[in-house]
Amino acid sequence: MGIDTVKMEDVAKKYVVMSGKGGVGKSTVAVNIATSLAMQGKKVGLLDVDIHGPSIPTMLGLSGEKLMSDGDRIQPRVVPGIENLQVVSIGFMLEKEDSPVIWRGPMKNGVIRQFLEEVQWGSLDFLIVDCPPGTGDEPLSVIQLLGDADGAIIVTTPQEVSRVDVSKSVNFCNQLKLPVTGIIENMSGFVCPHCATVTDVFGSGGGKKIADTYNIPLMGTIPIDPAIGESGDSGTPYVSRFADSPVSKIFETITRSLL
Ligand code: ADP
Repeated sequence: MGIDTVKMEDVAKKYVVMSGKGGVGKSTVAVNIATSLAMQGKKVGLLDVDIHGPSIPTMLGLSGEKLMSDGDRIQPRVVPGIENLQVVSIGFMLEKEDSPVIWRGPMKNGVIRQFLEEVQWGSLDFLIVDCPPGTGDEPLSVIQLLGDADGAIIVTTPQEVSRVDVSKSVNFCNQLKLPVTGIIENMSGFVCPHCATVTDVFGSGGGKKIADTYNIPLMGTIPIDPAIGESGDSGTPYVSRFADSPVSKIFETITRSLL
């Protein structure tokens, strides 16, 4: 049986940020892509439907905040200091930040549908969706409900195991007829803050290999940088805090390919 897709008016482009597994920096990448687009003057919505790890409120300085409604539709939150960027997160619905989500399948689908359907974004140039990791029911619902997303951005790390995971994500997108916009290799080498030497902690070139294998673009490689982790914890996105850094330029190049 087919699934009814949701109708989203006035959203020019929709991209889903995916990963084969958790902890590879999917949310970090989603936040920094969304922020970078907003800093380039685009109107951006960031939708965090990562049910079990909604870290985006913390990353945007909105932890503990709740969603408002006008009685009819959900009102997104404007990100402090970044006026073109609005956000809706499952995290805004949890009683406490550390409450586990224990919804069963149909309830999860209901929440995902509500988040896709009932948010009053206004007109957007971009909607960036932070999808749950993996290739299970939850990302399946997100992609099927969206119906016409413009593409998937797959985040991976250089380890062999995540190359296997990313292959699954690529096949998953192919089966769902969702174009893969490209791959981002995160945590690709560690830049020593003292001597700037790059150490390939997890090996190198995994993203390039997989991009070549599947004939899809490698959109960028992002090193491990303690400032990226600290920015996430402090609630100010890395690309707005360190706008002129080389890594922010990588994010700018990535977003330019979406424009
Ligand atoms: P996911 O969404 O895939 O579960 P997160 O974006 O939450 O992963 O990232 C996991 C952790 O790794 C976070 O603490 C984040 O700040 C950190 N992190 C992600 N990417 C980098 C990076 N390039 N350099 C340093 N820390 C990073």
